[in-house]
Order: sequence, then C-alpha cells, then structure tokens
Amino acid sequence: MRFRRTARVAVCSAAFLAGLFPQVLAAQNATTQEAPAPVAVAAQAPSSSVQAYTLPPDKLAKAIAISRIRNILNIAGSVWGIVFVWLLLATRAWAGLERWAQEISGRRWIQGVVFFATYLIIGALADLPLDWIGEHYERRFGISVQGWGSWLGDVGKTLGLTILIGAPILLLFNWIVRRWPRRYWLGIWVVTLPILAILTFVEPLFVPLFFKQEPLAKNHAVLVAKLETVVVRTGIDIPPDRMYLLKAGVKYTGINAFVAGIGATKRLVMWDTATDQLPDDEVLFVFGHESGHYVLHHIPKGFALSAVGLFFVYAACAAFAVWMVRRSGARWGTTELSSRTGFVVLLFSISIASFLLEPVSNAVSRHFEHQADVYGQEAIHGIVPDPQKTAVAAFNALGRSWLDDPNPSPFIEFWLYDHPSAQHRANFALHYDPWANGGHGEFFKN
Ligand SMILES: [Zn+2]
Repeated sequence: MRFRRTARVAVCSAAFLAGLFPQVLAAQNATTQEAPAPVAVAAQAPSSSVQAYTLPPDKLAKAIAISRIRNILNIAGSVWGIVFVWLLLATRAWAGLERWAQEISGRRWIQGVVFFATYLIIGALADLPLDWIGEHYERRFGISVQGWGSWLGDVGKTLGLTILIGAPILLLFNWIVRRWPRRYWLGIWVVTLPILAILTFVEPLFVPLFFKQEPLAKNHAVLVAKLETVVVRTGIDIPPDRMYLLKAGVKYTGINAFVAGIGATKRLVMWDTATDQLPDDEVLFVFGHESGHYVLHHIPKGFALSAVGLFFVYAACAAFAVWMVRRSGARWGTTELSSRTGFVVLLFSISIASFLLEPVSNAVSRHFEHQADVYGQEAIHGIVPDPQKTAVAAFNALGRSWLDDPNPSPFIEFWLYDHPSAQHRANFALHYDPWANGGHGEFFKN
C-alpha cells in the first residue's frame, strides 16, 4: 500500500504465477524525482473544475512528456510479456528447453529447477530493454539519480531473488498439475494463499538488499514525537521501533512512504525524500494515510478479494490452457498440460488474464487508496492547523516530485493507475471538510 503510484508496478494478484515475484521485488524499483514546493502557476485550468494540483509551466511540459513515455512503456511491457512467451511457444523454444533440461539430469526435480530458473532468466532478459528505456527517461527527467552500475546491480539482485523464490514455487505448481491432472487448479489455488501470506511477511526483509534503512527516531526524534500524537489518535500499534527511514534519496528524488509486512514484520517505512522535502505536518498526513491501510484492514481485505478472484481466474485459465494445448500443442511441441512446456501454456493464459484484469485490481486498489486518503486527513484533524491545506500541499509536493500528469486521460487512469491521480486526490482533499457545521468524519468521532 504505497503512498503513490509506482509506474510499472501494477500489482495484480492474478498475475501471481506470471509475474508476482518480479513485481513484489520491483517495488524497490519504483520509478522516480523531487520538488521544491512553491510557485504554482495554474496548469491548463479547464473551464469548470478546480485544479488543486498544479505545476509550474516548465514542470508541466516535462510531466506530460514523461507520463506519455511511462504509459506507453507500461502497456508495451504487458503486451510484450505475453507476445514473448507466445513467440517462444510458436518456435518450440520452450519445448527445446525442456529437452535440454532432461539431458542435464535424470532427476525430475533437478530438471525442473533448471527449466524454471532458465524460464525466469529468459523472462527477465526479455524485460530488460524496456526497463532500460524506462530508467533512461527517469534519469533524463531527473527522477532517478541512480548510477547505471548500481541500477544493473539491482536488476541482478532482483533476478537472483526471483529465481530463489520463484523457481521452487513454479516447481511445486508444476508438480501439482502432474499429481492431480484434472483438479490441479484447485490445488494450486489452495497453496497460493499461504504462499502469498508468506511473501507479504518476508517482503520487508528484502528491502535492505536495495536500500539502507535506519530507525526513523535516530535522526528525526522530534518528528517521531509528533507522529506519536497521530498514533494516539488512531490507536494503531506501530511503536517507534517499527518506524524506519529508507535512504531512497541516493536513487530517487521522488517522495514516498509505505506500510509493509504482517505480524512480526509489520512496519512503516518513510523515504528520506519525504522527511527532507515535506514539512512535518505533511509527513503526519502521509503517516495518517499509511495508518489508514492498517486500521481499515486493507491487507487482509486485499487477501480475501485475491483469494476469491484467483479461484475463478485459475479455473478459467485452466480451461483456456487445456483448449490451447488441444488446439496448438502439437505445433508447440507438447501434448500434455502436465509437461513443463504445457505448464508454460498455463502461465501464458494466466499472464493474458492478469493483463485483462489489471483494471479490476487497480479499481480495488484505487478504492483502498481513496479510503486511506480520507482516513489520513481525518487522522490529522486537531493535530495540524488545517488538514485540508496540509493534504492538498502534500499531494502537490508528491505529484511534482514524480512529475505526475495533472490531467491524465480517464482511460489511462482507469486502466493503469493503482492510486487515484494526484489531481483527483488533491481535489478531494481541498473539498473534504466534514467538521464544518459541527459534523465529524467517516472514521473518527471528532
Ligand atoms: Zn496508500
């Protein structure tokens, strides 16, 4: 539940098999730039609606340019991921890889490890050109300040983790398909749920591979004391030793914060770009937003929705994969879904489904994010002088720091945005004042 939209990281739970591992880890590669605050020249003020999020003209031109590039790369990346797997099916490359793995060892599990590790490496190499183009532009627009060597190092580390975590899971799933050829999707669904829970639990533990982090209290004792006033109002159980400062500024200029983990790994992580660039009041608002995700149980709710969604997605994908193998299997070098090449057909059908369902999972995500925005604004009521002003200022700083487009097309927002646009968030905050005339908010009694 990150505070901002991450450009190419559209986490779709249905993407589990095809892309979860890279996505979980790519959270570390969130794109992105900085923002000295003031001087807002109204950006393209359309006739009626108020523009609560504005950019000075030079930044506006840049924001429009880089948003277009991000959107194109995002869609191209999804389509390319599907086309690429299909190309390797059509040229019988996956079937060739399967034969090669069989020649390497007589043991099935070693063959499987070789096959799926190679599968993941090939997939990462296929993504590399688009990732590189994306990074090139993020650097050019001043969003990324990471050196190429360090960037490549992160790509390598992400791939290593993807293989370490992904290959055994794919091996397990493939085994389930062989063991229960008819109802295997049900078995895969059953094991997916604890795996998702475990990944959520361990995800924060991988962060130090990519960023240095320290206790937030170490250099921001005053801020932590202020955050405690919000903690008291919200009643959440995030003690100061679960608040971390992430040294993200060596790689990005953009502002961000997130909550991650469950149980013993639950934590709040504030990027140093946020504490460096935002006044404390706005950091409190960001913290209030993140607290909202916990208080409103967005992680378990997201889990429950994924569980229900995946049940149908797996069932449909299984049927689709059977149909594809029957229709084209002979040409692709496989006649059995339980073969490793057949399993790639299953992954192929899931990647198509996850692409088509991206708007659905993004709509759910936007709803949660909006709720957290409301919660955040209510959480700082009575603590900062003017919650509306604070929230609007925070969204402006956030949007400017990443060069967010002030007026994305509704279709792009519908399909690709896992957070409402900066404009929608700022506009809502500007008008949200439930305390006027003695009223109270949605989540707090005062
Ligand atoms: Zn959020």
